[in-house]
Amino acid sequence: MKYIDEYSDSKAVAFLLGKISELSLKIGRKVRIMEVCGTHTMNIGRSGLRKTLPENLKLLSGPGCPVCVTPPEYLSATMGLLEGGAIITTFGDMTKIPDSRGRKLSEYPETKVKFLYSPADALKIAKENPAKEIVFLGVGFETTAPLIAAVIERAKKEKINNFSCFSSHKVMPPALKALADDRQSRVDGFLLPGHVSVVIGRKGYEGLDIRGAIAGFEPTDILRGVKELLEQITGDEKKIVNCYKRAVREKGNSAMREILYKVFKPADARWRGMGNIPGSGLAIKDEYARWDTVEKFNLSLSAEPEPEGCRCGEVLKGRCIPPDCSLFQKSCTPQNPVGPCMVSSEGACNAYFRYEVAHDEE
Ligand code: SF4
Repeated sequence: MKYIDEYSDSKAVAFLLGKISELSLKIGRKVRIMEVCGTHTMNIGRSGLRKTLPENLKLLSGPGCPVCVTPPEYLSATMGLLEGGAIITTFGDMTKIPDSRGRKLSEYPETKVKFLYSPADALKIAKENPAKEIVFLGVGFETTAPLIAAVIERAKKEKINNFSCFSSHKVMPPALKALADDRQSRVDGFLLPGHVSVVIGRKGYEGLDIRGAIAGFEPTDILRGVKELLEQITGDEKKIVNCYKRAVREKGNSAMREILYKVFKPADARWRGMGNIPGSGLAIKDEYARWDTVEKFNLSLSAEPEPEGCRCGEVLKGRCIPPDCSLFQKSCTPQNPVGPCMVSSEGACNAYFRYEVAHDEE
């Protein structure tokens, strides 16, 4: 517990907030900082940090929640596989998102849709059901993709041919570039995701013309990242600084990247609300095609619209905040979500509902 206390220390928080106030005053204009990590989104909400910051400093939630950025057509294709007789295996949040026809995986019986705690369990299910096709929904960033790659590699080794992965994996640097280029988002700096950075290292962001601070997850970690970005603004600098050195190395984790790129290759990918971003996805390599759902079932996905009235796409780009959506807290709640940002425990709308607005009403 000493470790946690050290990084949540109230004196350090007070010191950092003082520095942040000074810097914000000096900058003298609105500053927009975006976090691109679901865990940051939840911890900012849970710790109440947003309310402690100066008026001219806004923290926005970007596309850091993997379930939120998965496009609607991926869900429709999953429903098609399910109705074609495949058993779908997935982590919990994916089952609660309505597809464009309002259908949810959670409405199907447990024999057809199975929640997993570990992706390796999908192989066990495949062995137990040799006459069935088992599809694993591969959703996530650089952090989870190496684990899924290891499962696909194992399926190949053990010749588990009724298993396949429907990859919607994504990588973060191309999305950061797209956000930095989006004039309407007007992001001054990014709090970069601690978990992704463990894998790709500070070097993984090289070449991006952005202000970035790699940050951990305690309040002091987040505030240190914010302070770093404000210092860059006052110094008129743009660079990537590692403020999470106790976990993130300069070159990241090469073993994780090795298994990741053994199985996956960079590909263009569609992000919910952000459209197609070149090089931002991870497709399964040809030598693993037998375990690639897209190849196995000859899938072709075309873009589908967002649920009517849902502004998830704009929330994910920092163009608006959840309460700006007319459905927020009315027809859209965690119990009855309209869009994925309210479904996922890492989604911005869910975080606002649980920690920002709800606290105001108490
Ligand atoms: S409040 Fe609901 S409908 Fe509105 S943007 Fe968020 S998830 Fe979509």
